[in-house]
Amino acid sequence: MRIVKIILISIFALCVPFVVFLIYDAVYASQPSPFREDPVTDVFVWSRQDSVALGEPDEPEKPDIPEEPPEPPLPDRSVPVAFLTFDDGPSKYTERILEILEEHEVKATFFVIDKPMYDDLYKTIYDSGNEIALHSASHEYKQIYGSEEAFFEDYYSLQNKIYDLIGVRLWTYRFPGGTSNTIVSRTVLNDIFVKLRAKNIKYIDWNVSSNDCNVRDSNKIINNVVKGAKETVKIEKNNNEAMILLHDTNLSLPSVNALSEIITQLKEEGFVFDTVSNATNLSQHRKLAE
Ligand SMILES: [Zn+2]
Repeated sequence: MRIVKIILISIFALCVPFVVFLIYDAVYASQPSPFREDPVTDVFVWSRQDSVALGEPDEPEKPDIPEEPPEPPLPDRSVPVAFLTFDDGPSKYTERILEILEEHEVKATFFVIDKPMYDDLYKTIYDSGNEIALHSASHEYKQIYGSEEAFFEDYYSLQNKIYDLIGVRLWTYRFPGGTSNTIVSRTVLNDIFVKLRAKNIKYIDWNVSSNDCNVRDSNKIINNVVKGAKETVKIEKNNNEAMILLHDTNLSLPSVNALSEIITQLKEEGFVFDTVSNATNLSQHRKLAE
């Protein structure tokens, strides 16, 4: 009997603190307290910081795509605009072309290549107020279109050269043969497009060809350009821009002889003239396959 009494007293003694704890918890535990930890903090949440701190491999680097610059206000396109573009210069005719442009008070764009014998002419073009843009250093299709690396090696070679000569870095480009050339593979071209976009390099093709590489007759060149420009702005009513391809090489005399008449006739047709930086339609033959 004595043993039973001792056991009952012991059970009672053990229960008292437990009951006191239950009462305390019911009264105070539901109230916020600076000394109580928020239960959420007890849950281990796997965060990116944890993975970095624990030395896990970082995410693969994303391509460095710059944000699109704010759109400049659209130029007036209520009248048709002619963009005269001369590829493959400089040449022995470059200065004559500049004179004709000045006589008619119009500006054009020169997509130049690397021609060391005419090194002084890059600055002449730039200082004349006409636009100068890149058209590859070597202009060798097989070389530059061999791979994306070869393409950009060529691109930067010319960009650096022009920078040394005129002190300006150029980011406007025309593919030799245009993006519609049949030499470059679609895979390489797409790799190039991705990188051009990442670097915000603008490339421009054309929508009017003088065909002056094949036609050595000034009258035919005039007709190709003027007729082509009129038809283009009639078809592409939304942009009203004729991007005209001509050449500035040592074989371009027929084009030089045609130039004055081309400008006169286009003016008579109501065209004004501008340079490619102000084009709203880049006349790209092929674009990045999304
Ligand atoms: Zn060319």
